[in-house]
Amino acid sequence: AYNFCAGPAALPQAVLEQAQQEMLDYRGLGLSIMEMSHRDNVFVEIAEQAEKDLRDLMGISDDYAVLFLQGGASSQFAMVPMNLLGDGETADYINTGQWSKKAIKEAGRYGNINVAASSEDTNFSTVPLQESWNLSDNPAYVHYCPNETIGGLEYSFVPQVGDTPLVADMSSTILSRPIDVNQYGLIYAGAQKNIGPAGLTLVVIRKDLLGKAANNVPAMLNYQTHADNDSMYNTPPTFAWYLSGLVFSWLKKQGGVGNMGEINQRKAEKLYHFIDHSGLYSNPVEVISRSRMNVPFVLADDRLDKPFLDQAQAAGLLNLKGHRSVGGMRASIYNAVPEAAVDALIDFMAEFEKKNA
Ligand code: PLP
Repeated sequence: AYNFCAGPAALPQAVLEQAQQEMLDYRGLGLSIMEMSHRDNVFVEIAEQAEKDLRDLMGISDDYAVLFLQGGASSQFAMVPMNLLGDGETADYINTGQWSKKAIKEAGRYGNINVAASSEDTNFSTVPLQESWNLSDNPAYVHYCPNETIGGLEYSFVPQVGDTPLVADMSSTILSRPIDVNQYGLIYAGAQKNIGPAGLTLVVIRKDLLGKAANNVPAMLNYQTHADNDSMYNTPPTFAWYLSGLVFSWLKKQGGVGNMGEINQRKAEKLYHFIDHSGLYSNPVEVISRSRMNVPFVLADDRLDKPFLDQAQAAGLLNLKGHRSVGGMRASIYNAVPEAAVDALIDFMAEFEKKNA
């Protein structure tokens, strides 16, 4: 079967097979990763290798700390302002969909938030051009969500905000193509799409942004704590960290994010091309802002939704139902979804359209 789930999402088959082999008895040590101390040299080596591979893949310099945390991207909605938004300061947010809205709402508990731009009036079918943004005079940071997983909206540009730290929720786009980390102050992502299993949350933070949290910020919610302790201040999600390391190593073998980006571009282009030329399916997002990872589409007659999903599942095309807040369909085509899966989906959609014309 091919799994188009938005998250937790498909993992590379080769990674699952390796994990299965190592599951019961890790390299002859007589125990599994899950049963091993995170202070054990064997695990520390796994953890360090994962970080090294991630740094290689994304080109992360020593100016940045890489943190392997818990709590999901949703915790970052709070940790970002708790750590970066000082007393009396303002942070700018761009509202391009459900995930930015959640980040904005959460940040509002901690300080002044300026929504510098929003595309809510177009039902999030566009990304507001940066020329139209109403940024504050001296914001503590600018936050945006480069890929809105629910609406299938992706920025075609990296915001240019001068010396202001740029903060990005990359949950559903990280590792999908090359990015220039140096343009960011902080990047965060829940692991369960392009990184590994749920339970791990990745934060890449420029080191000069550490140590800014107020005294009453709990140790566990202070980036400095985790940076000072190599993300082992408390027990980290060891199995998720290990498995993510296998994914990083798999990605390197696939030619890294450059190669992956080309494959992802091809996958998305052919799916959108098919949708745009069909009479039954449509996608509402302006072409330049369409997500390469999450492709939402609706059927012209929503009475066909259920048969579509049932027949897709029977054909081995899983989890195509859209997010509960928007309905319709959504094909998430992250790194671990092979091009053959997109081809199979297009064939199925064409056949379904023919039968229901
Ligand atoms: N941000 C984006 C862009 C997401 O897609 C998601 C989850 O799908 C989240 C945040 C929330 O992530 P988590 O469930 O890890 O808290």
